[in-house]
Amino acid sequence: MNPYSYNKALLHMDRLLELRDGKLPAPIHTHLIISDLCNQNCSFCAYRIDGYTEFFAIRNGSGKLVRNPNRMINYDTVIRILEELKSAGVKAVQFTGGGEPTLHPDCAEFINRAHQLKLDTALVTNGWKLNKEIRSAILGSTWIRISLDCASPESYHQMRRAPERAFHEVLENIRALVDARDKSGSDLTIGIGYVVNKDNWQEIIPGVKLARSLGVDNIRLSAVFQPENAAYFVGFHYQAAALCKEAEWLSTGEFKVINNFSDRMGELVQGHPEYSRCPHQHFVPYIGADLNLYCCCVLAYTRRGLIGSLKDQSFSELWWGEKRKDYLEAFDARECPRCQFNDKNRNMNKLIESSKIMHGNFL
Ligand code: SF4
Ligand code: SF4
Repeated sequence: MNPYSYNKALLHMDRLLELRDGKLPAPIHTHLIISDLCNQNCSFCAYRIDGYTEFFAIRNGSGKLVRNPNRMINYDTVIRILEELKSAGVKAVQFTGGGEPTLHPDCAEFINRAHQLKLDTALVTNGWKLNKEIRSAILGSTWIRISLDCASPESYHQMRRAPERAFHEVLENIRALVDARDKSGSDLTIGIGYVVNKDNWQEIIPGVKLARSLGVDNIRLSAVFQPENAAYFVGFHYQAAALCKEAEWLSTGEFKVINNFSDRMGELVQGHPEYSRCPHQHFVPYIGADLNLYCCCVLAYTRRGLIGSLKDQSFSELWWGEKRKDYLEAFDARECPRCQFNDKNRNMNKLIESSKIMHGNFL
């Protein structure tokens, strides 16, 4: 059982068939960015590095570029968006970055409200401010992924530009969450994120061992997405791939090492997708803390990914409106600079094509 399986589309054939028939289906899962502000400053953060996004950083009064904007969606608007997503037919919401979701003072309340609306939820966090209130709310979620990306306080400090004590505090928060999950009987899947990059590839094996010792369910190994694509990994690509492969042997019955490193590298080597239709963007859009709707997380805060703003219109008005129709009309996935959803897109395109069947009732 792989929680990152690209076969999940099989569970949503009704919406894939709508797409095949030229309709615009409702999304299945939406990324919702309640905070662009973060309490860390990771060297590999896609939003904070040069050349990845156009709209994330802002200029302050003196014209200086601020790469960690203090931008959050206010309480009423988040509640409105959650309700609109529910009535549009969305099934799941992922609270993620942008910035660090747990910095929003109402983070726990948003998760609880989503559960009241019968939306599945997930949280991606650095785990530093994973306080008791948020831990309690998240017990009703489907999964949480906590980015650790290393195995020592020194590396944590160097790579995330956070104090060394943050490393210990995050580990404590993870242990407390595992403990609360085990005592409550919640089905929450607790995962650790490890984004392999220049600064941490040598710590992959100790990082996986550390994650396993925390009692979590899995660790996901991936490769950092950045504007240099595969060139970034020159000099350590093969060593990192070998360590990720070796790490797979650290899986146990209770702990799974999900090694996505080589798949992500393949996507960075490839660059532009080879297919023109992108089903992923129909099912997993991204709402930024700037209240813009973007087609997917890879193109979040970019001109290419921008569909429109939710400031003055509802989600449904924008999703099924003329502006998005024009956007889709002009869209060709082959112009995307890189995509981490190639496998999912190829699989969904194959399902769509193979469902074009004549005389289907004559089984
Ligand atoms: S914790 Fe996440 S959002 Fe914050 S700087 Fe690091 S990668 Fe970016
Ligand atoms: S980057 Fe990938 S998911 Fe995003 S729009 Fe392009 S093809 Fe689709």
